[in-house]
Amino acid sequence: MITAQDIAAAIRNVPDFPKPGIQFKDITPVLADAKLFSASIDLLTQNFKPGDVDAIVGIDARGFIFAAAAAVKLQAGFIPVRKKGKLPYETYEQAYDLEYGTNTIAIHTDAVHPGSRVLLIDDLLATGGTAAAAAALLEKVGAKVLEINFLIELAFLEGRKKLDRYPVRSLIVY
Ligand code: AMP
Repeated sequence: MITAQDIAAAIRNVPDFPKPGIQFKDITPVLADAKLFSASIDLLTQNFKPGDVDAIVGIDARGFIFAAAAAVKLQAGFIPVRKKGKLPYETYEQAYDLEYGTNTIAIHTDAVHPGSRVLLIDDLLATGGTAAAAAALLEKVGAKVLEINFLIELAFLEGRKKLDRYPVRSLIVY
């Protein structure tokens, strides 16, 4: 059986990308390996079975990859949270600070039915600003966030503190 440690072994550390001092966690080798990619989706969704969740929400852009695959596995819908200006219909927006820079993300105002049970998935938890902003957008559209899941957590940045109102799970912790 493939474990989170096997997935961790495939993650590539790229120093000084996209800025000096940032150790970028490159997940593309995980995606390129069929067994590791599939195991990462199994582990991200392990607390749920089809019928438990109405939709999986993915954060632009690497979060989309894991969230869309998880949605197919759990027979749930997929909802994108995108960078500002990318979604075509009416949106709610939320600004936040990133580990490197600032950003604004958006969700379609009609993305979920009020009361929908959703999982929020992203590739990596750093300072928590992105996921906290996405969770705020989900509350605005009336979704119930069952869990927030990450492939990777940079625990020393204490991003979890911004998400303390939600169950948070990460497969690999640095
Ligand atoms: P944060 O809002 O600080 O938790 O940042 C999380 C977001 O930024 C995620 O969508 C990640 O894809 C990206 N990110 C932040 N730091 C890194 C890193 N060291 N390596 C890869 N992606 C990162």
